[in-house]
Amino acid sequence: MKTIEKYSIGTGDRFGRQGLAQIAAFKKARDKGVSAAIVWNKSNREHNLIGTQPADQRAAADRAIKESGWDGSYHVDADHVGLATVDRFAPHCDFFTLDVADFIGKAADPGLVEAFLKKHADLPSAKGLPAALDAAAMRAAAVRYLFAVGEAAKTYRRVRDLRGLGPRGEDDFVTEVSMDETETPQSPAELAVILAALADEGVPVQTIAPKFSGRFNKGVDYVGDVGAFLKEFDADVRVALWASTAFGLPKSLKLSVHSGSDKFSLYKGIGAIIRKEGAGLHLKTAGTTWLEEIVGLAESGGDGLAMAKEVYRAAYDDIDEVVAPYATVVDIDRGKLPSPDAVDKWEGPALVAALRHVQSDPRFNPSMRQLVHVGFRVAAKMGGRYLDALAKHEASVSRNVTLNLFERHLAPLFIA
Ligand SMILES: [Zn+2]
Repeated sequence: MKTIEKYSIGTGDRFGRQGLAQIAAFKKARDKGVSAAIVWNKSNREHNLIGTQPADQRAAADRAIKESGWDGSYHVDADHVGLATVDRFAPHCDFFTLDVADFIGKAADPGLVEAFLKKHADLPSAKGLPAALDAAAMRAAAVRYLFAVGEAAKTYRRVRDLRGLGPRGEDDFVTEVSMDETETPQSPAELAVILAALADEGVPVQTIAPKFSGRFNKGVDYVGDVGAFLKEFDADVRVALWASTAFGLPKSLKLSVHSGSDKFSLYKGIGAIIRKEGAGLHLKTAGTTWLEEIVGLAESGGDGLAMAKEVYRAAYDDIDEVVAPYATVVDIDRGKLPSPDAVDKWEGPALVAALRHVQSDPRFNPSMRQLVHVGFRVAAKMGGRYLDALAKHEASVSRNVTLNLFERHLAPLFIA
């Protein structure tokens, strides 16, 4: 089985131009003694909105690795795929995020539920289980999640069939199971039941993405009770560590946090917990890189600044369409969005300060930032013109991409 490193970050790269700048951030982390794998993730939805293919993502990743000479580990993630969408990803990816959130709560075969409860009758009283579970809660969790687990297993087997086996007759890919894109969080006890069921189905899950409590809006900080989140996260970490041994799941099993980018108020606490428990972590923070492209363009002034303003205007004008696919994960106060005509009169530093995620800066505008976060499709529509601007202002863009990934993400998470 291809094994994921203890620490890894899903960086994403919407337009496939920031690989070198992202790798530079991982080099900085390595200079500080922290090894982390870089995972280029792009969801089916993002490919569809931008008009790219999984092969493009693979080519961009391989090119960046070759050009940089980076010898650390890296993966390409088929992010949020299911049975209906996985096929086109299979040849190009070595990390598969099997998203079964839509199947949560679908009625599982009663016979399967009874067999599961019988097999795992001892689970509530299992030695060391780091979560409170009784027979009734276990039955409720089995009824709620077994169908979704079955769907994950089908998708996993589909990937296996399409990719064949690695040189030692094992999987040549990393399997993640995600249940984060749903309304109701999973408790640590439910996580234990889900992991038991995945083990029963023979899914060698290495990263598991539950839905955590609180709001994970796109491009802005966590909204919720940080202390309560960290308590829940700590319990989830211990459940995952315990389950890897108890159910014979891979030793590399760890939590995956689909952050929606930039959950700065959580990072130090998350880092402290994983170091305390000796646990690994996968954290996806994909859209933050696209936002830094816009910040970098604005900072470079001239036609770079004009391009950043044009992107804002297009996103603003198309706000309903741009926001629709992400409606449940943004909280944009439309009254706080300046008009594009007003923004056109701004100097570069004003636009940079509005978009750059520095919460202590009174000019920072979370509504603008969320709108631009989900507005990448307007840049895709500009096609070559947008990519040319990135190339022309590469120095400013890559400086911002590297600094953001290292100083705001890798360092607070992984450097004590
Ligand atoms: Zn997700």
